[in-house]
Amino acid sequence: VIDIVVSGIRGRMGQTLVRLAGERTDLRIVGGVDREAVGGPAAEPYGSTRIATADGCGALVEQADVVIDFSSAEGTAALLAGAGDALQGRALVVGTTGLSGETTRALEELASSVAVLTAANFSVGVNLLLGLAEQVAAALDGERFDVEIVEAHHRAKTDAPSGTALALGAAVAAGRGRPLDEVRRDSRSGDTGARPPGEVGFHAVRGGAVIGEHRVLFLGARETIELRHEALDRAVFADGALHAAAWLAGRPPGRYKMKHVLGL
Ligand code: NAD
Repeated sequence: VIDIVVSGIRGRMGQTLVRLAGERTDLRIVGGVDREAVGGPAAEPYGSTRIATADGCGALVEQADVVIDFSSAEGTAALLAGAGDALQGRALVVGTTGLSGETTRALEELASSVAVLTAANFSVGVNLLLGLAEQVAAALDGERFDVEIVEAHHRAKTDAPSGTALALGAAVAAGRGRPLDEVRRDSRSGDTGARPPGEVGFHAVRGGAVIGEHRVLFLGARETIELRHEALDRAVFADGALHAAAWLAGRPPGRYKMKHVLGL
């Protein structure tokens, strides 16, 4: 049995992970990390699960084979700082989006001694779409086909554009041999002038309970193509993250992606 600690355990994704892990016999949630460890210095009983705050999570993390993090940009940074050396000998799956450059670099560094997998999206469909977006972008050059990425999420999401939208944009840019930074254009407004060729535009819709929708539009003069994905249930991400955790447990140190897990 693979023992798992969930960082962000009280959140939407954290609770979905707890529910789905409860349906599996190959892995078990032994604890969580969240903002509050009410009633104790580091950990408290929460159902059958112990919860620590990030700064007191080392002892709990040591009990895990894999740590899965779906918290917030600050939450991931706090987890890395709080767990410190306790992460050595474990594996780490990070689903949190909107991470700072500093946290991203810390994860790269950690990957020299720990198996680290990050993914902006754990669904099979989106990971398939990343490959398709790159392929279509390579076939349809930026002079003739404008790319716009439109995403929609629930009102509580705090980062925009979504990590998945940025990953799709990076795939499009890679298909055209450019880094995303050079072609990225966020939500136009005002006197923008005509659209320069080669840009990848991002548009974020926020509201209600939308779990996650992404559209990649390739807009030509005489035809348009649209790649679209819609998540119908948060369980698609949690299921993918648990699958990734089971796959990652015991792997050598390094930087892993969902395409390795899914064999894409
Ligand atoms: P949420 O707000 O419902 O849950 C986040 C949890 O983390 C909360 O319980 C919160 O208390 C905890 N947390 C936040 N900051 C913390 C800190 N500094 N210390 C300790 N605990 C902290 O959010 P959610 O909808 O579950 O999403 C969490 C993250 O996962 C977001 O970054 C979101 O974009 C990302 N996400 C990724 C995928 C994917 O497939 N990769 C899918 C869905 C969501």
